[in-house]
Amino acid sequence: MKKKITVLKGDGIGPEIVDEALKVLDKIGEKYGHTFEKDFVDIGGASIDKYGVPITDEGLERCKDCDSVLLGAVGGPKWDVIDPAKRPEKALLKVRSELGLFANLRPTRMFAQLKNASPLKETGIKDGLDLMIVRELTGGIYFGEHKTYEENGETIATDLMLYSEHEIERIGRVAFETARKRGKKVHSVDKANVLDSSKLWRKVMHRLAEEYGDVEYSDILVDNTAMQLVRNPSQFDVIVTENMFGDILSDEASMLTGSIGMMPSASLSSTTLGMYEPIHGSAPDIAGKNIANPLGTILSVAMMLRYSFDMIEEADAIEKAVDDVLTAGYRTGDIAGNDENVKKVTCSEMGDLVCSYLS
Ligand code: NAD
Repeated sequence: MKKKITVLKGDGIGPEIVDEALKVLDKIGEKYGHTFEKDFVDIGGASIDKYGVPITDEGLERCKDCDSVLLGAVGGPKWDVIDPAKRPEKALLKVRSELGLFANLRPTRMFAQLKNASPLKETGIKDGLDLMIVRELTGGIYFGEHKTYEENGETIATDLMLYSEHEIERIGRVAFETARKRGKKVHSVDKANVLDSSKLWRKVMHRLAEEYGDVEYSDILVDNTAMQLVRNPSQFDVIVTENMFGDILSDEASMLTGSIGMMPSASLSSTTLGMYEPIHGSAPDIAGKNIANPLGTILSVAMMLRYSFDMIEEADAIEKAVDDVLTAGYRTGDIAGNDENVKKVTCSEMGDLVCSYLS
């Protein structure tokens, strides 16, 4: 198969981790007879420095004109001082909305080899952790009207949380379909005891639950979900929720694994075009030192193969290679802990190791 990938390396550790992920992608191409053509586009601070904007219109077009997008991370202190409308992160919102990436999938898996890194290792996580958060990405309060105005001598600010039935239904379908391929269980998170948008959310989800009779369905309030994620995260399989709740809960869930550098994500549209990226940021504190953990980006490539290219065997092979590397005791600094038996490796050595376990 031949696939064209637009690569957005970005800032900070972005270029380092993406280089390792591309090594692994090329290894897959070699092993399974695929050609992965790459188109490199500047994004974030790197684009601001060159063109004065976080992504150019031409760059955006090149993100649309490909089979999938791979992103490192954007941002850093150098660009924190500029006009918020032109900040590096603005490019991400632009790419997400222009490409119609409405579904954000974040698998949260605790690797047995890294159990000691979890803050819950002795309690709620004893049975392991493998859940998927499906977050709505292009609607809700982040995209509703934001207004600040003066009234009766004081400043008032409002943010509108708005959802239409079709937006809820399409993310709901992603969740139910995802559950069918996993543990067949969906928890739909809302705040239906207070919010109208949540009442509509719940109504649409109930309609879908009837259609997907083979999937076990539950409603759960967002505050309870935050608590249950810490108390007993193993009870969850697929969690589906709106944009802001998903933003907060997915960060909470990722920390349960104790290793932010390990976590991949996929942002999907109604076509096979998606954007794949690790969940962490540009980690300016360790950029340029060749010590970042590239596994979150490498696992994002596995998600790209699975969800956009339907290359299931190839995706499984990457995930197994990552597992094997960890089992063999290799660790980047962030996941090494105090265990003297592990073999500490650099970012580029970790990429090479995954490639060697793919051979
Ligand atoms: P961060 O995720 O970049 O870093 C948090 C901590 O985790 C740091 O100590 C960092 O060294 C560590 N870390 C992160 N990824 C790692 C990896 N792969 N290997 C080893 N250690 C890793 O979050 P932050 O410090 O809050 O943000 C830094 C910059 O990244 C900011 O400008 C922020 O806006 C941006 N950001 C970008 C994205 C994105 O591009 N999607 C997401 C979040 C934050």
